[in-house]
Amino acid sequence: MKGKILGKDRSWKLHYAALNHAAIQGEEIASIFEFVKPPVDPFAIMDAERELICYDGDDFGDCFDGRIRFVGPRFLICFNTRFNAWPHKGQNHTKILFAIAHELGHFFLPKHRDYLVRSRQSHGSFSEFTSDPLVEQQADFFASGLLMPKYLLGPEVNSSNFVTLDRFHRVRNSFEVSLTGLLVRWTQLSDFPCATIAIKNGKIQFGWTSAALRTRGAFRIRRGDSVSCRAAKDFLEADPSLTRYREGSGSGSIRNWIDFDDYRLQTEEHYFAIPHSGTVWILVVADENDFQDSEFED
Ligand SMILES: [Zn+2]
Repeated sequence: MKGKILGKDRSWKLHYAALNHAAIQGEEIASIFEFVKPPVDPFAIMDAERELICYDGDDFGDCFDGRIRFVGPRFLICFNTRFNAWPHKGQNHTKILFAIAHELGHFFLPKHRDYLVRSRQSHGSFSEFTSDPLVEQQADFFASGLLMPKYLLGPEVNSSNFVTLDRFHRVRNSFEVSLTGLLVRWTQLSDFPCATIAIKNGKIQFGWTSAALRTRGAFRIRRGDSVSCRAAKDFLEADPSLTRYREGSGSGSIRNWIDFDDYRLQTEEHYFAIPHSGTVWILVVADENDFQDSEFED
């Protein structure tokens, strides 16, 4: 689709509808392959589809995270094993699992597969929410839906309003996903008022809000603003170099993060310093009962 065919607002909505659709298709694949508990293992999917997929893992330096190519009659998926040199828990680093899930997106999403068969070009990818074009984002959303399907992760996310760091890490380990991948998905699947915010150089870079916030008009992340939350500032200032992984917790107000004047919602927050990307990720959670109280006052 080229050129401007829809108004700005509608083309933005269409873009997000396409991404959400890709995530749902990822969830459907997890369900079709009968994953009834985490983790969803992308190797098991490739093995089950061995008539159509062959795969090869090697240290490809920094050429790509993953790659898929139609070599007729099968598709060849290559993945970069260099991440296994980084500390990790399971057999493979979560970056490798995500990269394979991303390439499976190109395999399972019909338009992506058509393109691969027609062009016979390899499709190289740097995955995990860093790529811009719609196809790459669709494959990322597919991967996120596949590895963290709502039917498996939703009950974990929504078992209580607030999550401790301990429980968050337990969920992460059982799904074998990256911290940032889980943080994004958490907010997508939460029934509670929460947001995932990324901070770079002391400023709010981007973020996502849960449906419970969006439907109340709280969706404009204060992008570009300096961090104003006291607890978050303390966390940042404790080691501004971000050269090692750190985590911490604090409390504050939703208005530090989101343009939202209607309520003074108090928040519980978890901070994660991610050295690889030089960012601090924050999970901000408000109490849904505060919303109800505020509504009664109106
Ligand atoms: Zn790709």
